Amino acid sequence: MWLKWIIIFSFTSSAWAFRLTSDFTNGFYWSTLPINITVLEADPARKSMIEDLAKAAIDEWQTRSGLSLWDYADTGTKNIIRWSTNFASETRMDPESTLAVAIRYTKGPYFARTEIVINGGHSLNQNQANLRTTITHELGHTMGLDHSEVGQAVMAPTLQAWYNGLHSDDVQGVQAAQAEMDHRQVTGYVSPLSYDSGASQTQALNCGTVGPVAATSGVSVNGMLSLAGGLLISFVRKILKWFKSRC
Ligand SMILES: [Zn+2]
Repeated sequence: MWLKWIIIFSFTSSAWAFRLTSDFTNGFYWSTLPINITVLEADPARKSMIEDLAKAAIDEWQTRSGLSLWDYADTGTKNIIRWSTNFASETRMDPESTLAVAIRYTKGPYFARTEIVINGGHSLNQNQANLRTTITHELGHTMGLDHSEVGQAVMAPTLQAWYNGLHSDDVQGVQAAQAEMDHRQVTGYVSPLSYDSGASQTQALNCGTVGPVAATSGVSVNGMLSLAGGLLISFVRKILKWFKSRC
């Protein structure tokens, strides 16, 4: 009897973990780490504010993981974080349900550059604590982390109103992504999927939605969760009631 429960627990606990993005899983990776990244913003006060949040988010990821993943650079990088006042038309994402989007461009077997576009029209992003959480989450996407099934993770598809630091699942996720990238760098790995793609390609991560009902349907559309059954799904719905949105 207890063996049955061990098997069930093993199955369900393995389903509750970080995930890697499909492009990363398909073989694309950064050719070197850390990557330079900067904030592109015309308004000096807003630029300074977003810079501070981005630096804090970078520091948190790197301190917790012990890794060097991003190098904040004032200029000279194509990897940018920017505040969009025209989010819907620029990204074609639903501006009511999407806080930000992380776009990764690929060239050959590599990620060529990344762009984090913040939805400047969303009320949740007007709050600096939430905005920092949004940026922390999007930075995770730039390293190939997808949405986690761990509700307390910053990589969960919905924004944590009570966010209180990276979850161990986030740390394990980024360490796994970095270890895989390191392996690919050392071996000069070329994805079979990149043979015919000399040109630059774009992939935007399709992110989560606002509110418990929309978030649940968004999750199923994205196929992010492969849950064991109705019991777990209802549990997730209960958790989602505590969440607001994030991308
Ligand atoms: Zn996201």
